[in-house]
Amino acid sequence: MMKKLALLMVIASLIFASCSREEKSDNPLLNEFDTPFGVPPFDLIKASHYKPAYLKAFEEQKTEIQAIINNPKEPDFNNTIKMLAYSGELLSKVSRVFGALNSAHTNDSLQAINREIAPIASSHRDDINLNDTLFRRVKSVYDNKEKFKLTDEEKKLLEDTYKDFVRSGAALSPGDKEKLRSINEELSRLQVQFGQNLLAETNGFKLILDKKEDLAGLPEGVIAQAAAMAKSLNLDGKWVFTLQVPSMTPFLQYSERRDLREKLFTGYFMKGDNDNQYDNKAIIARIARLRTERSKLLGYESFAGYALERNMAKTPEKVFEFLDQVWEAALPVAKAEAAAQQELINSEGGKFKLEPWDWWYYSEKIKKARYDLDDEITRPYFKIDNVMEGMFYVANRLYGLNFTKRTDIPKYHPDVNTFEVTRDDKHVGILMIDNYPRPSKRGGAWCGTYRSQKRDINGKMVYPVVTMVTNSSLPSADKPSLLTALEAETLFHEFGHALNNLLSNITYPGSSNPRDFVELPSQIMEHWVLEPEVLKVYAKHWQTGEIIPKEIVDKLDKSGKFNMGFTTVEYLAASLLDMEYHALTEPADLDIRDFEKKAMEKYGLIPEIKPRYRSTYFNHIWGGGYSAGYYSYIWCEVLDSDAFQAFRETGDIFSREVASKFEKEILSRGGTKDALEMYIAFRGKEPGIDALLENRGLK
Ligand SMILES: [Zn+2]
Repeated sequence: MMKKLALLMVIASLIFASCSREEKSDNPLLNEFDTPFGVPPFDLIKASHYKPAYLKAFEEQKTEIQAIINNPKEPDFNNTIKMLAYSGELLSKVSRVFGALNSAHTNDSLQAINREIAPIASSHRDDINLNDTLFRRVKSVYDNKEKFKLTDEEKKLLEDTYKDFVRSGAALSPGDKEKLRSINEELSRLQVQFGQNLLAETNGFKLILDKKEDLAGLPEGVIAQAAAMAKSLNLDGKWVFTLQVPSMTPFLQYSERRDLREKLFTGYFMKGDNDNQYDNKAIIARIARLRTERSKLLGYESFAGYALERNMAKTPEKVFEFLDQVWEAALPVAKAEAAAQQELINSEGGKFKLEPWDWWYYSEKIKKARYDLDDEITRPYFKIDNVMEGMFYVANRLYGLNFTKRTDIPKYHPDVNTFEVTRDDKHVGILMIDNYPRPSKRGGAWCGTYRSQKRDINGKMVYPVVTMVTNSSLPSADKPSLLTALEAETLFHEFGHALNNLLSNITYPGSSNPRDFVELPSQIMEHWVLEPEVLKVYAKHWQTGEIIPKEIVDKLDKSGKFNMGFTTVEYLAASLLDMEYHALTEPADLDIRDFEKKAMEKYGLIPEIKPRYRSTYFNHIWGGGYSAGYYSYIWCEVLDSDAFQAFRETGDIFSREVASKFEKEILSRGGTKDALEMYIAFRGKEPGIDALLENRGLK
C-alpha cells in the first residue's frame, strides 16, 4: 500500500514539475518568480500580462483536472482529493497578484480586465464544481473515508471538498446546473460592477474649499492634510476633503460649518445612490434576487441559510438572536448619547434637531468636555512608524517574531514597506504594508496573501508572502503621518490577520476559516494597542520623543467606552441590513431605498444614526466576501474579548505560555479544524457574551 502511494506521488510530482520546467516565458506571471523570497516581480508585470496568464492558468488547471478524472485507479485520497487541492497553482498565483493589485492600486486597464475575466473565471469554477465524473470520484472517497488512513487535516480537507462540491451544485440535475451556471456568471459580473461603481463614486466627490472661513474649527494638522490633498490634485492654495475616511472624519469631528458637514456627509452616504451611471441600486436588487434564486436551487430557504451553514453560527435564526441581544443593550445607550448631544445643541442656543452629520462634531465636543481628550491631543504620539514598531514589539513579546525592513524587494507602489519576518533567525515570511489612501485604492483596510503558507506537493515548506493595506492619515508638508487611536487600532487589527497568515503551519493549500471565526486573530490584537505597557514602548511624541504622559494614557483608558452606543448601533444596523437582504426567502425585485428604510424602521434605528454602510456602498456584502457575514465582527468580539481574558488571567498580557497555546491551537491551523473545537482547545470552554458587553460598556 505504502509503495503504491509513493509511486502515485512521484507521478503526481512529475506532472507538476513538468509545468515549471518549460521554457522561460516573456510573461513574468508564467515564470517562477525570480526575486528575493519569490515575491511577485511587480516591476516586470504589465497589465497586458494578466489576460494571457489567466487563460493559460485556466487551461493548466483543466489539464490537471482531466488527469485526475482519467486516472484508471480507484479513487482515493491521494489520487483525487490531494491532486485536486494542488490543482490550479498557476491560477492561484495569477489571481492573487491580480486581485491584490486591483484592490490596492487599480487603473482603467485592470478594471477592464476584471470585467472580462470575472465571468470566465466563474464559468471555469463551474466546469470543475459541476463536473459529474470528478464529483463521483470525490464522493467515492468521501463514502469510503473509513478505508483510508487519514490525518485530521486530511479528514477535514476531504469533508470540506465534498461539501464544497455539493454546495456548488454538483448533485443537481443537468437542467438546474445550467441555471446555476448562468446565475453564477451574472453574479460575477454584477459584483465587479458594484465595486467599480463604488470606486468611481468615492473618487467623484470632493469638497473643495477656497476661503479661510470655510475652515472654521479645524485643527491645524487637519488643514495641512487638506492642503496637501489639494496640492496633489493641482489645486494649490485650496483645501480638499474627500469621502475617504481619514479625510472626512476629522472634518465631521471639528468643522464648525454645519452646512459643509452636511454637504460632505451627504456626499458620503449617497454614494452609489445618485441615479447616475454609477448608481448601484439596480445592481444590488439583481444580486439579492439572484442569490436567493441560487440558494433555493441548491435546496436552502435563503442565501443566509446557505451561507451560514458552514459558519460557526450555522443558522440565520442564531445570528438574528445574537444581534438582537446586543441591539437591545446598545440602542438605549445610543439614544442617551443622542439626547446628550441635543441638550448641548440647545444649551448653545442652536435651534435645530441633531442630524447624522452632527454626530461626530458634538460627540467630539462632549468627549473633550468630559475627558479633556480629543484625537489631536493623541495624534502626535501615534506616528505611523512608531505604531508599526509597537505592533512588531507585541508580536515579538508574544511569538518571538522579528521584523526587518527590506529595500531590495520589488514593490508595486513607493508607499509599500516590506519586512522579512523571522523567528530564531529562521525565515517565517514576508510582510508588505501599504498605508495611505489614493484614488487607485479602494476604501477600508484588509489583509491578503500573494502566497499562502503550505507544504508543496512534495512536502516542502512554502513560506507566506502577506500584504496588509490600510487607508491611514496621510503625511502633510511638514508632518509625518500621525494617526488617530482608531487608526492605530486598525493597523493592529490587520496585523492580527497578517500574523494568522505568517504563523500558519498547515500542509494542504486552500483551507480557510469560517468568516465568523477569522476576525478572532485580528480583533484580539486590538486589545494590546492601548495597553499602558505597550503604549510606553511605542507612543512617543513624533518631535520630542517624549513617551505619552500617564495622564493621557489614563484619559484614553477612561474614555475607551465613550460613544459606544453609537459605534455599536451603526455597526449592528449594517449587520441587520445585511441579514435582512440575505434572509429573503422569495426572489423579489426590491426597491432598495424602500427596503433599507423599512428594515431600519423595523429595528427602531434612530434617524440621527445611519447604518455604518448603506446598501449602495456596502462593499463587504455586495462585492466582498461578507454576504450574510457582516455580523462576524461582533460575533468574533465575543471570542476575542474572552480570549484576551486568558492573557489577563495570568496577570501578564505578554504571557508566552498563553500566546504559544493561541498559536498552536488557532493561528497555526488555518481552516484545518472545526472553529469551535479550535477555540475550546485553546480556552477549555465556550465563550459567553458577558466579556463583550463589558468591553463595550453596555452592561
Ligand atoms: Zn478583519
